[in-house]
Amino acid sequence: MTVELDEYYMIEAIKEAQKAETLTEVPIGAVIVIDGKIISRAHNLRETRQNAVAHAELLAIEHACREIGSWRLENATLYVTLEPCAMCSGAIILSRVKRVVYGAADPKGGCAGTFMNLLQDDRFNHQSEVMSGVLEEECGQMLTKFFRAIRERKKAEKQKRKKTELETITEIDSQ
Ligand SMILES: [Zn+2]
Repeated sequence: MTVELDEYYMIEAIKEAQKAETLTEVPIGAVIVIDGKIISRAHNLRETRQNAVAHAELLAIEHACREIGSWRLENATLYVTLEPCAMCSGAIILSRVKRVVYGAADPKGGCAGTFMNLLQDDRFNHQSEVMSGVLEEECGQMLTKFFRAIRERKKAEKQKRKKTELETITEIDSQ
């Protein structure tokens, strides 16, 4: 697999992440490729579905299995914008995904080499090849921007609340 091809498919995963962002979901996207063809694409839907397991990778794996009519994704490459968590890494191992390519690392919970390396632990009966840091900056910046916007929105709401409180107090005082 060439670097250009990995970047090409990562851009597709980024497009999925952007769809998540428009739903005010944490922008994480994934695509699954078999024989050069994207057979599945998904994005994080945790808030929309109020479902803790609705991660991009898990949804992409579910869809890919339905698509090929098999739980074995032995020839598949999964592209995801953020390093997979413990749950998704588990699903990757169980579905025997051949190769995982991710963008940004997640030192606080990533299980594909930073926090842990479940994908390449030889105590499991399957290991995936891992490629990290593909379009890392683009993938990471989406997340940074998203969380910054949330913080700013919360701050603005807090200030607005304070202002209303102050106005109420002034009104009471002047009565
Ligand atoms: Zn996950």
